[in-house]
Amino acid sequence: MRIIILGPPGAGKGTQAKVVADSLGIAHIASGDLLRDHQERGTKLGSMARSYMQQGLLVPDDVIIGMIEERLHSSDAQRGYVLDGFPRTLEQARALDKTMEKEGQRIDLAVNIRVSEKELIRRLGGRLVCRRCQRPYHEVSSPPRKRGVCDECGGELYQREDDTSEAVRRRIQVYAKQTAPLIQYYYERGGLVEIDGEGSIDEVRDSLLKTMPKAGV
Ligand SMILES: [Zn+2]
Repeated sequence: MRIIILGPPGAGKGTQAKVVADSLGIAHIASGDLLRDHQERGTKLGSMARSYMQQGLLVPDDVIIGMIEERLHSSDAQRGYVLDGFPRTLEQARALDKTMEKEGQRIDLAVNIRVSEKELIRRLGGRLVCRRCQRPYHEVSSPPRKRGVCDECGGELYQREDDTSEAVRRRIQVYAKQTAPLIQYYYERGGLVEIDGEGSIDEVRDSLLKTMPKAGV
């Protein structure tokens, strides 16, 4: 079983990818983890990635695909995996399909987690972070005991520039523009399911797991 999870920033993709991988006993492959791992091990791909990141540039697709390809060979990925954070664009999806074809593999299921713009703004717009220890809070769902002050270290809480509602709206628009063709791609090639991402983590996980037989996997 090979799964990718799509969804806007704030949809809880990372959390769900982990939960689903655990429930199904398959590997969780996150592009962010791959990047960190390769840099720590000092691999060729890792130092290529680093040189782009140091210039403030995006890591090119073929570097990430190279990391994914290597990861697909590891023993824990043989039963299947959930890909997290990749692909994000149509070009990446096509490149991934090509690489997987070489391996005689195919993405069986693309899950699109849907969350309304209003809810995303509520989730991301209320995010606060401690200046000192970086612990995250949320104005509504996990507020600090004392307003504006970190429970952990007493540091000052602030809103990252990325998380103001204007910035959140922009991030959602960029996402929608980039991924609409991606969703269409998986719809046309088969294996796309859409689920409601507005419930609790457990509710979203349950509806996610329920889609698996429906998709014929
Ligand atoms: Zn703190």
